[in-house]
Amino acid sequence: MKEDKFCKVCGLCGRRMEWRKAWADCWEKVALCSVGCRKRGLRREDHELEEALLNLLQKRGPAKTICPSELARQHYGEEWRSKMEPIRMAARRLVAKGNAEILQKNQVVDASTAKGPIRIRGKV
Ligand SMILES: [Zn+2]
Repeated sequence: MKEDKFCKVCGLCGRRMEWRKAWADCWEKVALCSVGCRKRGLRREDHELEEALLNLLQKRGPAKTICPSELARQHYGEEWRSKMEPIRMAARRLVAKGNAEILQKNQVVDASTAKGPIRIRGKV
């Protein structure tokens, strides 16, 4: 995803952040998009998920996709259902870094706005 003066990507949830007036004086330093993201913060767990996701994508091979629940089950076992959002956030961060794409119905979609079930594909 292209970043410019008026658009960057939240370091936690991986969604696009548009420049807004309230950030006029600190835009350079703004790294997270919302109170929610700032409260939660980026945890070691999040970096691990990103790496685990990359590994899984690599193992799966090019042009193949994975469901976020596969990683959730692998990483969290029984509690996997409550851990889907951290994995979707990790997937969006990978999209922002150019390492992955998010698909719905076999089409690449906008990671920032996609709602509902997604699949993740590695990007080389
Ligand atoms: Zn965010």
